[in-house]
Amino acid sequence: MVYVASRLVPEAGTAFSPGAVAAADGNVLLAGPKADVLRAAPAGFTRLEFPGAAILPGLVNAHVHLQIPRIADPDGNVLPLPASFADWILRVIAWRRGSEPAAFARNFVGAAGEALSFGTTAVGEIAGPDLSAYAESPLRARVFAEGIGFAPEAAPEVFAAVAEAVRRLGEIAASNPLVVPGISPHTLYTVGEGLLRSLVEFATAGDLPACLHLAESAAEMAFLADGGGEIATRLYPTVGKDVSWFRGIGRPLDEYLRQTGLLRKGLLLVHNVHLSRREIDAMREGGARFVLCPRSNAAHGNGEPDVTYFVDAGIPFSLGTDSLGSVPDLSPWAEARAARSLYKGREKDPVLCRELFRAATENASAALGLPGGILAPGGPADLAVVDDPGGQGDALFRNLVERTERENVRLTVVAGRAARGAAE
Ligand SMILES: [Zn+2]
Repeated sequence: MVYVASRLVPEAGTAFSPGAVAAADGNVLLAGPKADVLRAAPAGFTRLEFPGAAILPGLVNAHVHLQIPRIADPDGNVLPLPASFADWILRVIAWRRGSEPAAFARNFVGAAGEALSFGTTAVGEIAGPDLSAYAESPLRARVFAEGIGFAPEAAPEVFAAVAEAVRRLGEIAASNPLVVPGISPHTLYTVGEGLLRSLVEFATAGDLPACLHLAESAAEMAFLADGGGEIATRLYPTVGKDVSWFRGIGRPLDEYLRQTGLLRKGLLLVHNVHLSRREIDAMREGGARFVLCPRSNAAHGNGEPDVTYFVDAGIPFSLGTDSLGSVPDLSPWAEARAARSLYKGREKDPVLCRELFRAATENASAALGLPGGILAPGGPADLAVVDDPGGQGDALFRNLVERTERENVRLTVVAGRAARGAAE
C-alpha cells in the first residue's frame, strides 16, 4: 500500500510536499517525497491518494482509561463533575461497583473508536476491570495493570491481583501484538509504601514500565504532607477505611520515589500539577517521563500543569486526555490546544505548537515504550491522514494544532490496517 498526499509530516518539524508513505506487513517501508517513494516502491502496490491532505504519524494519547465512560444519571444525563476531588474518586468507585460486567468492554469499544476518530493510533491505558476487552484492541496500547491498596495488610492480595493481571495481559499480547503490559501503582495516597516497593520490584524484574498518577490535586498533596485533608476526612471514611495511622510520607516527593525504587527509567508520571520546578528536575534526572492532562486538571479544579517550564526547559513531555469521566472527548488536538493556552514562555506560538505536536506523537511513544510516533522505515505504519491546514515551516504545526477537529481526520491506520476512514 502506498499512501500519497499533498503533504507528509513524518515527524515534528519535518514536512515533504507532496509526500508519500509505502507500507507492507504493518510497517513503513519508505516515507518521504512522493516522487522518491513512488520510484522506489515495489510494483503492484495499491495507491491511495489524498489530495489536500497531510499524512501524519498517528497521535499517541499517553494517558487514558478507556473503560471509564461519560458518567450519567439513570436517565442518561451526563453528571456535572463534583467540586471536591475526593467526591470524584468516590463517584468512580460507585460507578465501578454499580456497572454490569458487560459494560466495561462496551465502554472500551466505544472509547477506542472515538480515539481513532481523532487520528489516535496508540494509547497509554490504565487497565479497566475487563482485561479481555484488550484482546480486540484496535489501538496500539501500553496497558498498565493497576494496583490500589493503602493499608499494609491489603498489600499481598493487591500484589497478587496485579501480578495475575500482568500475566493475563501477557497472554493477550501474544494474540494481539498491539497490546503490551505495564504496571500502575494508582497514586501515592492509595498505594502504601510496602505495596509500592513490591510493585516496583515486580516491574523491575519483568522490565515493565510503571505509571503513577502524581501531584494531581491539592487534596493529594495535603494527605502526603501530614495525613490530613479531605482524603483523610472524607474519602477513606466513606469507604470504611481507617487511615488515622498515616502521618504523611515524611520526605520530599522525589526522595520518597527514589527510596521506594520507583524513580527510574520507565517511570511515567501523570498530571504533575503540584510539582515545583525543582521536583520536576529531580524526577527527570531520576529517569521519569511526564504526561500532562490539562483539560482534566481544569475540569476538576485541580490547577494547571507548568507547561511553560516543560517547554522552555526542553523537558520532553507528552499529553493525555484522561478518561471520558473527566473530559468531554478524547481529542489529543483539544488537549494540545489546552496546553497551548497555558503557555506563558518565550517561544513563539508556531514553535510551541510544533513542540505540542511532538508531545502528542514521538514523546508519547517514547514515554510508553511503544514503537511509532514518527513515520520512518522499519517503524510501524501507524498514521493519520488529516485535512492539510496550510502553512510552511512551524506555521504548519500551529495550523494543525489550531484547526484539526474530528471532521478533518480522513483516515486512521494502525499497523498498516485502516482502523477508520476512507479505506475501511
Ligand atoms: Zn488517570
